[in-house]
Parts: sequence; C-alpha cells; structure tokens
Amino acid sequence: MSYLLNGREQRILEDAIAYGKRHFEPYAAQWESEGRFPSETYTRLGADGYLGMYIDKTLGGQSMSFLESALIYEGLSRSSFSMTLAIECHNNMSYEMSIFDTSDEVKGLLPGMVGGDELLAFGLTEPQAGSDPNSMSSYATPVEGGYLLNGLKTWVTNGCEATQFDVTVKLGGADERQMVTFLIDMFTEGLEIVSDTKTMGGNLLSKAVIRMTDCFVPASRLVSRNGYKDAIFSVLIARIFTPAMAIGLCEEAIESTAEYLGERIQFGRPLLSNQTIQWELGELQAKVEAGRQLVYHTAAMMDTGVMPKREAAMSKLFCGDLAMEVTTACCQLMGAEGYRTGSKIERLFREAKMASIIDGTSEIQKLLLGADLVKRYVGREY
Ligand SMILES: Cc1cc2nc3c(=O)[nH]c(=O)nc-3n(C[C@H](O)[C@H](O)[C@H](O)COP(=O)(O)OP(=O)(O)OC[C@H]3O[C@@H](n4cnc5c(N)ncnc54)[C@H](O)[C@@H]3O)c2cc1C
Repeated sequence: MSYLLNGREQRILEDAIAYGKRHFEPYAAQWESEGRFPSETYTRLGADGYLGMYIDKTLGGQSMSFLESALIYEGLSRSSFSMTLAIECHNNMSYEMSIFDTSDEVKGLLPGMVGGDELLAFGLTEPQAGSDPNSMSSYATPVEGGYLLNGLKTWVTNGCEATQFDVTVKLGGADERQMVTFLIDMFTEGLEIVSDTKTMGGNLLSKAVIRMTDCFVPASRLVSRNGYKDAIFSVLIARIFTPAMAIGLCEEAIESTAEYLGERIQFGRPLLSNQTIQWELGELQAKVEAGRQLVYHTAAMMDTGVMPKREAAMSKLFCGDLAMEVTTACCQLMGAEGYRTGSKIERLFREAKMASIIDGTSEIQKLLLGADLVKRYVGREY
C-alpha cells in the first residue's frame, strides 16, 4: 500500500478543491444564512462527475476507489462541509442501491441517481433510537404485493428535497428484531414530511422528520432483508468519508486563519509573526496531517476488500473531534473576527460540530474501539 498519492489521486483532490472554490465557496455563506438547499448546484453535480463516483462503470458510475472518493470529499468540503454532506449522503445510498440485490425497478433509478435527477435520503434514526438503532419502533407489515409501513424517522438529511428515501424498519412489528430496508418514492401515499429540524450549523441541509402512516411500499422496493447489517454497512462507509470531510474543513480553517493573521497588524507586526501563534497553528497542522493519513489508510484498506471497522472508528473519532479542536482554536486566534456572525471561521465552527455527532458520535466510536479490545484481550464480548 502506497502512502503517497499518485498523480491521478493528486489531480482528483486538486480538481475537487477547485470545483468547490468555484461552485460552493462564493455562495456558502448565503446558503447558510438563508437555510436553503441549492438545488441548482446539486443538479449540475452529476454532469460534473461528483455523483455516484464509486458506482461501477457498468451501472453508470465511474468505478472510483474509496480513496479517490475520499479525496473528492476532502476537496469539496474545503468550501462547504454541509453541501458535501448532502452529496455524500446521496452517494452512499446510491452506492448501496448499486451493490445490493435490488429489483430492476430500483436499478432503473441508478441513471437518475448518478445524473442528479434523483436525490436520496437515509432514514435510520428515530426519536427513541439514536445511537442504538435496535431500539427503533417503525415497522413494516407484510400485505398482498408489498408492505405497509408505520412510524417516524428523524434527522433525515436531504429529507425535505429527497426524491427517494432509504428507510430501515423492523419487520412485522415494533418489538421484532429483524430489520428490513426499503427505497420509498417521495410521492408514496402515507409518506409525509412533518417538519425540518433547525440546527446551530449546516443550515443548507434539511434534517427532516418524516412520518409513515399505512404507507404501502411494493415488494419491488424492498432493498434489503438484512436491514440492520446493511444500515451498519452504510454507516461504515460514512465513517470513511465523513472524516475526510472533517479534514477538508480543518485545512480550510487553518489556511483562512493563517491568511488573516498574516495581514492583521497588532503591536506593529503581523500577528502571525508571533512564535506562540506559529506554534499553535503548527501543532494543529500536524494533527490534521495525522488525521488525513488515517483517512487515506482507512479508505485504502476498504479498497483492498478488508472491512476497516476499527480504523474507520479511529478515523471518525479522531477527525470528528479534531474539527472542533481546530475551529475552536482558530476562532480564538482570530479574536473578535472569529466570533463575528457571517465570518468564515464562525460558519466552519458551527459546521464542525456535526462531524463528531453524525454517523455515530465520538463516544460510540470509543465504545466500538473498547469492545474490540475486550474481544481481543478477554476473549469474549461484554
Ligand atoms: C446534522 C445531522 C444529520 C444527521 N443525518 C442523519 C441521517 O441522514 N439519517 C439518520 O438516520 N440519522 C441522521 N442523524 C442522526 C445521527 O445519526 C444521531 O444524531 C447520532 O447517531 C446520535 O444519536 P442521538 O443524537 O439520538 O444521540 P443519543 O443516542 O441520544 O446520545 C446522546 C449522547 O449520549 C452518548 N451516548 C449514547 N450511548 C452511549 C453509551 N452507551 N455510552 C456513553 N455515551 C453514550 C452519545 O454519544 C451522545 O453524546 C443526523 C444527525 C445530525 C446532527
């Protein structure tokens, strides 16, 4: 395994940075203040090669590796973590539709997923089931020709704009153990968007509450009979890519801060010429580089066919927390400017918090790493 990016990988990263700077950066603050998902920007992403990259070429994708895809997320996230999260969420769901044994009807939607006509959302979390998806109570009842779904899903990223919903529920009743996953069309009767949850950052993203009331879903839309395992697989993929996005955000925060401090004169000299400030930024840079290597290593492992469960947990934990550490330090280093509503660092600070919550919180990553240790050194699970 090479620890250096090759020419193609380097170009992919640079192109993604340039793309974000051109199409996201000029509007990111406005999207954030208006709390509006930029559909016009989303629709062009397909033609520009940023949708369905890791879907196989035979199904309309680009057969990109996980490492190459992580580089894209790192690059785009430099300009908007939130927009990149919307794309990542869609891409991960689309990828699943391409690798699962789905019906011709579902496979037939792939060109729209890769082209940008479809936008996918992921519904796992419920009011009583966050870190512990097993405690969900939404369920599907088998009926003639399909299933009737009932229940509530919360925090559905892209939920207000999505055309298709990847939803995991219990099979048979709320107290059952088996979970199944469906891909539900937005126009399905009984599927209702109840509200959009407002958050401290990432306001361009919708985080919808959706209700299913005797929502009939045909059997052709059942995409997994092993819903828990497959939902965990989606989360694993997200734990490869979300840290890459966190690294992009950290890099941008450090660069913006250094630029500002290089120009800001206090006591007759640029603030950046103070050694204590240089040390702090130097230390942060070292941590970001360490996180980046963890991201690349995890993605490269996935490319070899090994499930990097432990590495993904470490990467998610380290990079998620680092995003907060870096942006907190950068806000402080920029003084009042860092605290000003509308300043770039203020937006990055608010977005950074998402990185340690989504796709399993930092505490859950620590639990996973701890459980792995117990299994290895005690020999059984507790
Ligand atoms: C911006 C955003 C987007 C999201 N998008 C989606 C989406 O698209 N689809 C989706 O299904 N969900 C989504 N989520 C939900 C997300 O996955 C959950 O928020 C996350 O899994 C944590 O669940 P919770 O918020 O219910 O926290 P809880 O499970 O209620 O946990 C609360 C706190 O307790 C800690 N904790 C929990 N269990 C333990 C334990 N055993 N030991 C120690 N500490 C523990 C947690 O780390 C956390 O700090 C999104 C959330 C956000 C904020």
